[in-house]
Amino acid sequence: MAGAMAIIIDGKAAAAGLRQGLASEVRAIEAAGGPVPGLRVVIVGDHPASRTYVRTKTKVAQEIGIDGALVELPATVTTAELLAVVGELNDDPTTHGILVQLPLPAQVDAARILAAIDPAKDVDGFHPLNVGRLFASSRPSAEVLLVPCTPLGCMHLLAGVHGPGGLSGAHAVVLGRSNIVGKPMAALLLGADCTVTVAHSKTRDLAGLCRSADVLVAAVGRPRLVQGDWLKPGATVLDVGINRVEGLGLVGDVDFEAAVAVAGAITPVPGGVGPMTVASLMRNTLTAYRLQVGALA
Ligand code: NDP
Repeated sequence: MAGAMAIIIDGKAAAAGLRQGLASEVRAIEAAGGPVPGLRVVIVGDHPASRTYVRTKTKVAQEIGIDGALVELPATVTTAELLAVVGELNDDPTTHGILVQLPLPAQVDAARILAAIDPAKDVDGFHPLNVGRLFASSRPSAEVLLVPCTPLGCMHLLAGVHGPGGLSGAHAVVLGRSNIVGKPMAALLLGADCTVTVAHSKTRDLAGLCRSADVLVAAVGRPRLVQGDWLKPGATVLDVGINRVEGLGLVGDVDFEAAVAVAGAITPVPGGVGPMTVASLMRNTLTAYRLQVGALA
């Protein structure tokens, strides 16, 4: 197919725009004399990628006027010790958002930790109550719900491409069924009136399924799994994957060079979904703030 090249969705620019709007919300809070929104990012051990992620999160928070700080704990921390830290943050009125960076070391019961976070402060949206609210809502809204950040960022990018109501009736295929990306992504797409198929490692004829997708979200963690000839011409492709490949650096789950000639719109890696994830965390921090402090000025 000799069609035009896809629109390259600029996640950096979209994230910068979102951050700007959030920064002005924070300034409005300040002007009204409200308490400063506070985000605490709990990091256990010294996993290098996790360290980079948490530093970015607190830095971006500071840039938009949120009081973002790290809570650093040793790799040997126990479930009981971590539960105690979460309990203190739950009770701290200057902390409006709590994020416990995953993965946690094997000796820690991660499910117990996530369930111990106050649901109103759960800016990652991983608490079972927030998961349930997302799946029980026919029109999930980030104004009132704490939704996992990566799918939330993906929906923001899709809204930019398709406009309000523009996803209605589209066939969306989500590759991956994790609690962090695949499952909440499917719930949000369903809420936007897509017909949703969720695929995983046992799915048969993945290529054929992808070819029927108007919207394809790839979140599998397999470098360049999705080939150009897996795509329906004109499809919108969001590549969530972040894979470090020797000699290539960071690559996504989609073969970008091939896909860009077939898709209608596509996110690059890096510079696509990644920046939106962090900006969406800030959005969730302000949603959590509103849930606790009340309406903003
Ligand atoms: P998980 O490893 O938790 O889940 C991967 C999913 O992909 C599983 O459901 C798995 O299926 C499925 N899968 C694996 N291999 C295949 C295959 N060959 N064909 C079809 N499905 C397959 O990963 P996450 O959801 O946490 O993350 C996915 C990717 O997104 C990773 O690269 C991660 O680094 C990236 N990521 C990026 C973020 C960002 O901000 N851009 C944020 C979060 C993640 P099964 O369930 O059957 O095992």
